Amino acid sequence: MSQPVRVRFAPSPTGIPHIGNMRTALFNWLYARHTGGKFILRIEDTDQTRKVEGAEEKIYESLEWLGLEWDEGLDVGGEYGPYLQSERLELYKSAAEHLITQGHAYYCYCSPERLTQMRAEQSKRKEPPHYDRTCRELTPEQQAKKVAEGITPVVRFKIPLDGKTSFNDIVYGQVEFENVLLDDLVILKSDGFPTYHLANVVDDHMMQITHVIRADEWLSSTPKHMLLYDALKYNAPQYAHMPMTFGKDKAKLSKRHGATALLDYKSMGYLPEAMMNFLVLMGWSLDDKTEIFSKDDLIRHFSLERVSRTGAIFDMDKLNWFNGYYIRQLTVDGLIERITPILGKELPDEVKRPIDEDQLRRIVPLIHERLKLLNEITDLVSFFFVEDVQHNADELVGKKMTGELAVNALQSSSDKLSSLVEFDADSLENLLRPLADELGLKTGQLFGTLRVATTGKSVAPPLFQTMEVLGRDKCLKRIGSALDMLKGVG
Ligand code: GLU
Repeated sequence: MSQPVRVRFAPSPTGIPHIGNMRTALFNWLYARHTGGKFILRIEDTDQTRKVEGAEEKIYESLEWLGLEWDEGLDVGGEYGPYLQSERLELYKSAAEHLITQGHAYYCYCSPERLTQMRAEQSKRKEPPHYDRTCRELTPEQQAKKVAEGITPVVRFKIPLDGKTSFNDIVYGQVEFENVLLDDLVILKSDGFPTYHLANVVDDHMMQITHVIRADEWLSSTPKHMLLYDALKYNAPQYAHMPMTFGKDKAKLSKRHGATALLDYKSMGYLPEAMMNFLVLMGWSLDDKTEIFSKDDLIRHFSLERVSRTGAIFDMDKLNWFNGYYIRQLTVDGLIERITPILGKELPDEVKRPIDEDQLRRIVPLIHERLKLLNEITDLVSFFFVEDVQHNADELVGKKMTGELAVNALQSSSDKLSSLVEFDADSLENLLRPLADELGLKTGQLFGTLRVATTGKSVAPPLFQTMEVLGRDKCLKRIGSALDMLKGVG
């Protein structure tokens, strides 16, 4: 029987997780769920100089928002912890020492100044920057001298001087690198911290990771990792490198293409289910036509074999389309649940808290279809909740109307509305359609003026239903203040 799948998401807390990071997390999570394996969260904080305060919390928040719960890792624990690399330094140190005793690694005493100068010379000779291996063949005497000088060394890994390193990537197929092109990389720094490469290999081994699913920017590091696995006599996991994410203009995804931090999309009012559907299609497809995938569909169908090698395009229009789609799929109650916290925060203070749910239940069907982003909600529905609305005289009068016509229209509507028996959408329509005729106006003209008068907006949900929900008192009061304004103006 094959080993149960164990995959990991291994972000570095060096910034806020962006779309590309979270796509990697999603693919790992889906692979774990699809195979019934485990999804592990490991924080790779070995580069303490690049650590950003609060980044770790943002990693949790991003995963939680997308609904990618982890089976092992920080917060939840697990038998392969600790899951924070800075708490595992002893393990890396002993791996590095083991490599030295086995002749696969060596102490390097070169000073930063010497290395800088060496690189400058290489660049003059138009050579790629690489370590010139000065310390690789130091004799024990030379080493003892360096130690006596009090220099704290780094540890470098010995890359074979010739031959090739190859591996089979699930996405890229057979990949091969010439060893001469690889550098004797530092694996342990002078401060006792490992570099990414060593820590990554040691942890993937110790945490029994079976598949490394990561961005293809790491593809060129993988031969170094393979050599480390060999030297440590560990079995290497399988690799699957995910294609790069591009903007629509084919340039590498960056701020220029809009927000890149996942959580910015949360605050803009995107739904996590829309984001998940959108992210998965950045590099994976089931076939060439299916676009909509629920979480369960994805768990059922996801496979690494169907990850494409060509770059994944970040298409904002598509994300917006998904978001509109998923908002429309929500039930009225589902949508109320999502918008209530936003309204609670954003509606003016005069509106009673908690927000009236019965009223929301009447409003939501009127705006459901038009809502593209959750955050548009306050703007769309605020006029239902507040007492008074502001009027703009130009909008009230409307096109091809005069102030006088508008006053007349509002006055007649007001008179009729006062005596309307049932103040519901049908009765309102039956009353107001003929009124336009009576006044010699097009229905659009009358309704436009009434819409602005009752809602304060020239674009609002269907007029009669809106007026029904507003109720007679509010409608009459607002028409009254619109009239006052027009009379004052005219
Ligand atoms: N810490 C690396 C990163 O932030 C992990 C790369 C890997 O998955 O090996 O991307």
